[in-house]
Amino acid sequence: CGIVAYVGNREAYPLILKGLKRLEYRGYDSSGIALLENGELNIYKKKGKVTDLESELNGKQLPATIGIGHTRWATHGEPNDVNAHPHYSNNRRLAIIHNGIIENYASIKQNLVGKGHKFLSDTDTEVLIHFIEDVQKETGATLEAAVRLALKEVVGAYAIVVMSIDHPGQLIAARKGSPLVIGVGENEYFLASDATPIIEYTKDVVYLDDYEVAVINEGKLSIQHLDSTKETTPYIQKLEME
Ligand code: GLU
Repeated sequence: CGIVAYVGNREAYPLILKGLKRLEYRGYDSSGIALLENGELNIYKKKGKVTDLESELNGKQLPATIGIGHTRWATHGEPNDVNAHPHYSNNRRLAIIHNGIIENYASIKQNLVGKGHKFLSDTDTEVLIHFIEDVQKETGATLEAAVRLALKEVVGAYAIVVMSIDHPGQLIAARKGSPLVIGVGENEYFLASDATPIIEYTKDVVYLDDYEVAVINEGKLSIQHLDSTKETTPYIQKLEME
C-alpha cells in the first residue's frame, strides 16, 4: 500500500523508515525494508506497525545507501511476517516491493514451480520477482529489459521497485494503475507512492505514468515505455511549498 525507495549517498535505512511512517495514513498491516549492505542483499520485515519493524531493528548496524521499503495492505496471502514485502527472487539476488495486484499470478506461478522455483510466501508479488528472474535467465536480457518483458505478460495493477545485488547503484521502477513519484536530488533519487516522504529532501519530482519504466543507474534517471526501448525525457515538476 506504500512504497519508499532511495539511492544516493545518505544512510538509506533511517530515510526509508521515516518515509514509511509518512505513508502510514494510507493504512497497512505489515512493513519491510530491503538494503544492500556491504555486498549483501538483506530483507527485514514484520507484521504490524512500522514501529514494530523499527523496534526489531533497533541497535543494528544497517550500513546501506540504497534500499527499498514497503507498507503492505494484503490482497493475496494473510498478513504475516513471511508475506510482508520486500520479496526475494528464487536466487535471492533480486528484491521487489509492490503495490497492487497481479491477477494472473497463479498461472505464472504454476509454470515457475514446474521449473523448480521454490516460493516462501502466498503473495502474487513473490511470483512477479521470480518471473523477472526467469525471464532474465531465459532471454539473457539485462535486468531492465527483463522487467519490461515480464510486465508485458502481467495482468493487473502495480507500482513496483526492483533492486539487485548485481547492480548496487540501480533501482528499477514501473507502474500501471498505482501511483509512483520520483524525487530527483543531487546524485540521489527518492521513490514513493506520494510526495510526502520526498518533500523534505527535494522539490523536483517526476510523476511516473502508466506503462512507464524508470531506471536509476549510477546517478542517472531514464524513463522508457513498456512497449519500446525508446527513452523519454523525464518531465521534472516543482512540488508546491506546503
Ligand atoms: N498484492 C500484494 C500483496 O498482497 C500487494 C498488496 C499491497 O498493495 O500492499 O502482498
